[in-house]
Amino acid sequence: MAGERRFRGPIDLHTHSSVSDGTETPSQLVRAAAAAGLGTMALTDHDSTAGWFEAAATARTMGITLIPGMEFSTRISFLSVHLLAYLFDPSDAGIVAETSRVRQARLVRAEQMVERIGADYGLTWEDVLAQTTPDATVGRPHIADALVARGFALTRSEAFAGILHWDAGYYQPHYAPDPLRAIEIVRAAGGVPVIAHPATRGVDDVIPESRLARLVDAGLFGLELEHRENRPEAKARLYELAEKYGLHVTGSSDYHGEGKPNRLGENTTAPEVLEALINEGTGSAPIYG
Ligand code: AMP
Ligand code: FE
Ligand code: FE
Ligand code: ZN
Repeated sequence: MAGERRFRGPIDLHTHSSVSDGTETPSQLVRAAAAAGLGTMALTDHDSTAGWFEAAATARTMGITLIPGMEFSTRISFLSVHLLAYLFDPSDAGIVAETSRVRQARLVRAEQMVERIGADYGLTWEDVLAQTTPDATVGRPHIADALVARGFALTRSEAFAGILHWDAGYYQPHYAPDPLRAIEIVRAAGGVPVIAHPATRGVDDVIPESRLARLVDAGLFGLELEHRENRPEAKARLYELAEKYGLHVTGSSDYHGEGKPNRLGENTTAPEVLEALINEGTGSAPIYG
């Protein structure tokens, strides 16, 4: 029902469960969101929708609104760009094919990184598997947890600042589509695309205006400008571009449970923006808890 607001605030549109690299199961995550006082949350695991069903069931019992979503890995040459996608059809053939390809590439890449790390630190692939749930989207956070379990780092963040840092010699990228193609795939599946934390690299590496204009033409809905990792000058520049191109602005926590310091609801999205997002999303529906 367009225009009718049936969700409550506060609204946090970016969270991760153990289906990717969060530390809580989808059900635990939804409970944590309700306990934190959120009225609406989106589940946005990396390259996977496997948590939607469980999260929806818990959202119904907890009286919290769930926006089904995903954080789609994309890449512009060596730069990783994350695309939040909401309310798409999870069984759409284009989405299924591309996310399967990315998850498979992540797996191969993680095994190769672990092989190289293992040569210096004795870490094994079994150590990493012990830190993942079956079918989880595997990433550096799981390697970080294995390094912590083996005593090579004290926390995930320490592992990211050291052994897993891109210039430490073990880093390797993985296949991911160009953001333009990812936006087309998400829109074709009835979804609504928002670029996640687009200002983390500073003003020199902000997505150039000409490229942003093409992404807007392809159907980009918004920019996640309220996120703790966005840098002030780059964020200010992107606020200008958002205004110029009619892009919506979202704010979210990017909560990963104990895996990151980000707290649920530390940034939130305006109800008007969520209203517009719901009006454009046709591939799946919010679960109004
Ligand atoms: P990957 O996609 O495998 O290269 O790993 C990147 C993921 O690691 C992102 O989703 C981040 O949320 C997560 N990440 C990055 N830095 C940290 C950190 N310092 N502590 C915990 N997780 C992190
Ligand atoms: Fe993550
Ligand atoms: Fe991200
Ligand atoms: Zn995220």
